Amino acid sequence: MNVYFDNAATTPLDPEVLDAMLPFMRDHFGNPSSIHGHGRQVRAAIENARKTIAHLINAAPAEVVFTSCGTEADNYAAFGSIRTLGLKHAITSPLEHHAVLHTMQALEKAGDIQLSYLRHDAQGRFDLEHLDELLTTHPRSFVSLMHANNEIGNLNDIATIGDICASHNAVFHTDTVQTMGHYRHDVQQLKAHFLVGSAHKFHGPKGVGFLYRRSGILVDALIHGGSQERNQRAGTENVYGIIGLAKALEIAYRDMAAHQRHIQELKDRFIQKLRAEIEGVEFNGTSAEPDQSLYTVLSVSLPPSALNEMLLFNLDINKVSVSGGSACTSGANAGSHVLGALGADPDRGTIRFSMSKYNTAEEVDYAVEQLAKMYRPEPLKMRS
Ligand code: PLP
Repeated sequence: MNVYFDNAATTPLDPEVLDAMLPFMRDHFGNPSSIHGHGRQVRAAIENARKTIAHLINAAPAEVVFTSCGTEADNYAAFGSIRTLGLKHAITSPLEHHAVLHTMQALEKAGDIQLSYLRHDAQGRFDLEHLDELLTTHPRSFVSLMHANNEIGNLNDIATIGDICASHNAVFHTDTVQTMGHYRHDVQQLKAHFLVGSAHKFHGPKGVGFLYRRSGILVDALIHGGSQERNQRAGTENVYGIIGLAKALEIAYRDMAAHQRHIQELKDRFIQKLRAEIEGVEFNGTSAEPDQSLYTVLSVSLPPSALNEMLLFNLDINKVSVSGGSACTSGANAGSHVLGALGADPDRGTIRFSMSKYNTAEEVDYAVEQLAKMYRPEPLKMRS
């Protein structure tokens, strides 16, 4: 068996998505900015893709801006709104993905903003009273708080965060890279100014994403040049990427309920089998709480063992692809900044299993067996 449980890193391309993309790789090669027929045909396909995405998240097409990835969309939202609106204070969390954390720190270093970090508990749950306090002291801040954490799977209450931000007139950006295509987003209900999608996290192609940018909020472009994306993002569009992105999101919404059920069952099976097979196993953050975590991610905390350094390697040679992570104890130790911020015991091992619609119960059993055998005591050798 050769199993892939690293779907939070990236997902395999859905064949239906590939089929939608192929004509734009083979035949429809025109530049969408060209005014002749070849160009116009491709322009129409891009605008259809934009409409599809806008419809799915209940936005207007003009509110969807295509980017090269989720990281670019995060940068665009942060640099764009902080600089264009002249915001002087920002709030984020130490648990954010580096696409947000390093971006906010770059803005702080450049002297644009003063940066405050939101408090959280030992499970990584945000302290929303602290958010209210920070916004009372600094109204009109830029707030960037993720919907779901990519390492530990914590699912944050962005509806309440949006309400708090709105009551202080703050600009709210939420990194939805891990939830886009896995949960329904409705921007008419959610009080967020920016949401982010990255196609390769929901069986679309790599190298394409989008930013939802609420109409009425002025944001200067991050990438300058031509007038593509209504002057919001210069550069010839990644045409087949955009076609694939829209198709992947359409499929994700179409099949969401069935996939959610299937993946949640796999996750429950993982939890139950790991508890049965490995003494002292624990789960990081709120990973094992069904209503407080992403159904696609399970972050497993393994008992201290000399083998922990070799966890990923041992799983890899047994054909199980996963991500690892350990608590970072010092600046020099390149561990996980998320587990470090949670104060996780650096002697425990961490494995992140992240699942997709393509995984099966047999794969879960196989992966647990490969992991569990590393923790079983050596059998006593008989004397000859
Ligand atoms: N934000 C989160 C929460 C992520 O998990 C990732 C990717 O892992 C990103 C942002 C960056 O997305 P991309 O790979 O499209 O740049």
